Amino acid sequence: MSQAGKIALNLMEVIAKKIPKEGGITRVEYEGPRIALYTKNPRFLIGNNPLISDIVNSVKKRVVIRCDISLRKSEEETRQYIGDIASSESGLSGIFFDNAIGEVIVDVNKPSLLKQQSEFNLLDFAEKTGWIININKISTIPSTTLKTIYQTLKSTETEREKLFRNFGNNIFRSRLTSTNEVTLKTLGGFQEVGRSSMLIETGESKILLDCGIHPGAKNSFSSYPRFDWAGIDLQDLDAVIMSHAHLDHSGFLPALFKYGYNGPVYCSEPTLPLMTLLLNDAVKIASMEGRQFYDLVDVRDMIKHCVPLSFDSVTDVSPDIKIVLKNSGHILGSASIHLHIGDGSHNIVYSGDFKYGPSSLLEPAILNYPRVETLIVEGTYGSKIDIMPSREEVDTDFVHSINDTIKSDGKVLIPVPAVGRAQEIMLVLSRYMNSGDLIECPIFIEGMISEATAIHINYPEYLERNLRKQIIENDESPFESDYFTIVNHPSQRSEVLQTNPCIIMATSGMLEGGPVLDYFGKISNKKENKIIFVSYQVQGTLGRRVLDGTSDVSLVNEDGKIQVVSIKCDVEKIDGFSGHSDYNQIMKYVSRLRPKLKRVIVDHGEKRKLENLSHIINRIFKIPASAPAVREAIKIC
Ligand code: ZN
Repeated sequence: MSQAGKIALNLMEVIAKKIPKEGGITRVEYEGPRIALYTKNPRFLIGNNPLISDIVNSVKKRVVIRCDISLRKSEEETRQYIGDIASSESGLSGIFFDNAIGEVIVDVNKPSLLKQQSEFNLLDFAEKTGWIININKISTIPSTTLKTIYQTLKSTETEREKLFRNFGNNIFRSRLTSTNEVTLKTLGGFQEVGRSSMLIETGESKILLDCGIHPGAKNSFSSYPRFDWAGIDLQDLDAVIMSHAHLDHSGFLPALFKYGYNGPVYCSEPTLPLMTLLLNDAVKIASMEGRQFYDLVDVRDMIKHCVPLSFDSVTDVSPDIKIVLKNSGHILGSASIHLHIGDGSHNIVYSGDFKYGPSSLLEPAILNYPRVETLIVEGTYGSKIDIMPSREEVDTDFVHSINDTIKSDGKVLIPVPAVGRAQEIMLVLSRYMNSGDLIECPIFIEGMISEATAIHINYPEYLERNLRKQIIENDESPFESDYFTIVNHPSQRSEVLQTNPCIIMATSGMLEGGPVLDYFGKISNKKENKIIFVSYQVQGTLGRRVLDGTSDVSLVNEDGKIQVVSIKCDVEKIDGFSGHSDYNQIMKYVSRLRPKLKRVIVDHGEKRKLENLSHIINRIFKIPASAPAVREAIKIC
């Protein structure tokens, strides 16, 4: 019998001993990092919390309850049942059955109303239908990304059931070694911003953290993580863990599947749809530019392998590594990753991109970890002079700057990454137009931003507490304000360009492609207009050149002709909206982690800034700190 089979048998024995016959257990199965208990008597198990916590404590694994397949009503019957009992005010908009795990997701506009109905509580619903119910908030803004994900999950049910079992067999295989050696290999995003990726190796496992691309890179050696240098066989990787959806952290992920990776990808719940949105768009742009190196099928392959996790839950990802994701305050679903290695003798926190400060959109980064010895922290704003003004000052400057342009009948173009800054800026604009501080004028939102916004509304529990309350309890969303007009098709752009004054928000944030370029060419050559950058501009991007004062730039038109644009409009940069911590926030974060750190490694920043930052951390806090380059192997312990 295989090792995995033996372990499953042992587990079965332990669980069988704990659960009496009336528990009706029919199967015990790995479901990725969890153990799924299939029962014919859901009332006994779902209603018996002490018994379940006792099992969790003795098997030291996460346990989920599933109904035995013989109890499951057909999808059609269940769909009919839900339709019959759901109150019409709840705004039922979709029902998705996942046979791989026996779950039904019910999409509604007002989940609170459905949750008040006793028929929709977990137990009653399971008894009646044999399905585990999951009630999901859905936005009135349509989202094709969520549809893509549902379709992919649906068409791969059988395959995923097998995959999840394999993931479990691999995670819970018995350990071969008892050493606690840990090595970090830097593959990308060290002494640079872009292509973030690193490998954590122990005697037992290999875990990849992030897998990005470099947006401004000149050649393939600086565009992608250096797997070639690390000599990794992708099949030997135990897991890939994603901190957040931005392409400089996720853009290379589908390529792993194209080149043979077949293991799990762990990310927070909102990261899956956000990443899908950005990666699908990246494929589209790359294929137009003829530099495509993976395809939509690879993105779908990635979706199939994703194991979304909620924040703060402990998850086994290999025989000697457990992870916890915690809010990092950077974008929706962005996480800092805590790795608990071996018997807990060494703990690493990878901050990911983080904001240790207030924003309208998210709560600040969390830092209550039980233990951390090594911190890998980003230093985008790691230089002493990178100090941001307070949010009140930033908002006031922003409002004044826009008002000036509006008064002279000009247009304000705000290049924004679709995910994160766009939603923060939407909240600020709608708040100040409501209060009368910002002169009312049309705000045009390019399609992809609205798609990302819909995903924000779908995960209200991940948003800033007041915003969350507004969406969940009051069913109001400032994202759906009347001030916003969504531009769904390029043909609408000429109309937008004839509107004076107006505000236009468009992607990409660094002028590296996307609809913003279409506007940029027609807006920047008139002096009454203005461009306001609100996010970090990576070296080598057009955004950075414009910000640094370039007066003429060449653009390629839709018809392939080169157009030279003279920049006559005002160009401004407002830093305080950034989703990254400024210098003071980084220093506070480092100093407040308890117990005192044994080592700090800084990444994700320009070389000089990171070297300074590590030097200062070393000097002020007396913690050994370094700023390694890409292609270094560092002995952590
Ligand atoms: Zn980011």
